[in-house]
Amino acid sequence: KHVAPQKEVQTLLSPGSKTVFLAVASGKGGVGKSTVSVNLAVALARLGKKVGILDADIYGFSVPDMMGITTRPVVRNERIVPVDRFGVKVISMGFFVEDNAPVIWRGPMLGKMLNQFFSEVEWGELDYLVLDLPPGTGDVALDIHGLLPSCKEIIVTTPHPTAAFVAARAGAMAIRTEHEILGVVENMSYFESKVTGEKEYVFGHGGGQKLADDLQTKLLGQIPLQQPKWDDRDFAPSVYDAEHRVGQIYNEIAGKVIQAIEG
Ligand code: ADP
Ligand code: MG
Repeated sequence: KHVAPQKEVQTLLSPGSKTVFLAVASGKGGVGKSTVSVNLAVALARLGKKVGILDADIYGFSVPDMMGITTRPVVRNERIVPVDRFGVKVISMGFFVEDNAPVIWRGPMLGKMLNQFFSEVEWGELDYLVLDLPPGTGDVALDIHGLLPSCKEIIVTTPHPTAAFVAARAGAMAIRTEHEILGVVENMSYFESKVTGEKEYVFGHGGGQKLADDLQTKLLGQIPLQQPKWDDRDFAPSVYDAEHRVGQIYNEIAGKVIQAIEG
């Protein structure tokens, strides 16, 4: 197989490192995997952890935009130095394509790329490496499972029961590959009326808890719908700081993740 075994990956990251791999998965796209990955990574860093994020959504990379990254990695001693943003080391396919060209490789090339994201990147010492997975249960998701057998998983869903049903497939794959599921994050859970302060359940209700129950895991948190605030570059930042209510929710989720891993 074209992917390196986990021991090798650990060594590639940093000899003797005890990096915890956190894969953020979902049954389908558009539910907020990347948003959750990015904010979870930033929150873990806020809590004092050494954190990297690997945008493993090779066709549909979005992490650089979401973090507002306008620079590219530099090469030092023949290794790629991740971009540092909000205290997180970032690597994405988006750094290596010209002018947003579509990525059209097939499975084997994808696996090679993933390997390179470990072997040729100067990650340094990391406590946590968050992996923003592509949607569903395709090639890359399978490669990650093969590459990192002790990877932990966080499943993202929207509150709609049908979405939770689809997300359960990602959970089933984690279970089949014996990956520990740390919990479920329900995104787009509700919209809070600015007038009445009441919660409106625009996308349904209860999906996150139902999925957590079905997967025999915990609901780690519920993220409300946020209206994006466009800045003068037409860029809507998707990273919430610790002063923001949503940033606080992500801090709580990160705290639960640390608790689950480190006790
Ligand atoms: P995925 O990675 O699962 O495809 P994304 O994180 O890219 O999903 O989110 C899909 C879209 O929804 C993006 O435009 C993102 O900005 C938006 N989005 C995600 N979470 C929220 C939220 N809680 N409130 C409002 N918009 C959101
Ligand atoms: Mg995504």
